[in-house]
Amino acid sequence: MKHEKDDTTLLPILKDQYGRIKRKLRISVTDRCNFKCIYCMPEHPEWIKKQDLLSFEALLVFCQYMVKQGIENIRITGGEPLMRQGVVHFIRDLQSLRALGLKRISMTTNAHYLAKYAEQLKQAGLDDLNISLDSLDANQFKQLTKKELAPVLNGIEAAKKSGLPFKINCVLMKGQNDDQILPMVKWAKQHDIPLRFIEFMPLDGDQHWSNQAVVSEAEILEQLKPHYDIQPIQQHHEPARQYQLDGQYCIGIISTITHSFCGECDRIRLTAQGELYNCLFAQQGLNIKPYLFDVVRQLGQEKVIDFQQLDLQIKPYIWNKAKGYHAIQHQQARKISMHMLGG
Ligand code: SAM
Ligand code: SF4
Repeated sequence: MKHEKDDTTLLPILKDQYGRIKRKLRISVTDRCNFKCIYCMPEHPEWIKKQDLLSFEALLVFCQYMVKQGIENIRITGGEPLMRQGVVHFIRDLQSLRALGLKRISMTTNAHYLAKYAEQLKQAGLDDLNISLDSLDANQFKQLTKKELAPVLNGIEAAKKSGLPFKINCVLMKGQNDDQILPMVKWAKQHDIPLRFIEFMPLDGDQHWSNQAVVSEAEILEQLKPHYDIQPIQQHHEPARQYQLDGQYCIGIISTITHSFCGECDRIRLTAQGELYNCLFAQQGLNIKPYLFDVVRQLGQEKVIDFQQLDLQIKPYIWNKAKGYHAIQHQQARKISMHMLGG
């Protein structure tokens, strides 16, 4: 039900007009990526200029404000977050926000550089990882991403060794990698790795998305049915719908297109140049950069936020979040895609 009045600026809480409280913040630390996944990256990306990226210093003060407003989980994403220099250090700096209520610090990565970084991320205090892996077939993987599979598998091994908990995310596209459903499940089950399939969303860089390219949750289950006894599991505020296979192993399916979870959405997203998005499909973001300042104090220069102004902008912006994907899917095309929004 829609509330009549926007009175959220008075509260230390981020709530929208449908009563959804925001607990999760995704921060894209760069739009750059060494992969070119066909469901994500445009053929000719125009990268954000380095000088236009929000500095880690600015991000830290922003995160501090957001945690004070009730954000409990921060996920670092991109582009490819491990391509931004200083990201491990940033994760270490975020630890100071645990005292204010931050509960989890996570990262989503393509794992290409993970063999180098897994241990460092663990030492810096990262809680967990989501790793994207869309095919176990090296040729198909290269077709989908324009990169090699082997470094990703090495990255997954390194994550295991470091003890960092992780999940695998697999985006399915019809005619591209829908033959990977069974191999991916067998592989993940054998290695006891949590696996989630993701329905292809209309967020690809060159806007080639069509409904025909989506492999739906129903189609995924149909392919698995001859091989496993499948039982749905009760969901607990998770975007992924969970299924138990043969009474032992679980998979998740994030079916934004066929079963949107917008009704429970507790996420907001920040792009690498400082635009806040109240929804993956929002027509417009809110530029928070004007509220971040450099001030000179006794011990040197420091980043601060004009909290009052930020509050006055952010809360109504979040309040006005649309009902969800189905309410806004027919809007005009935007120039922003997943490599900028961070997934
Ligand atoms: N580069 C990192 C990675 O690939 O894991 C992090 C950024 S990526 C944009 C975050 C997530 O968004 C990945 O799991 C990716 O598979 C997913 N993604 C990208 N484009 C998508 C689309 N059009 N539909 C569904 N998921 C998408
Ligand atoms: Fe890069 Fe991730 Fe997008 Fe693939 S999904 S192009 S790895 S940002």
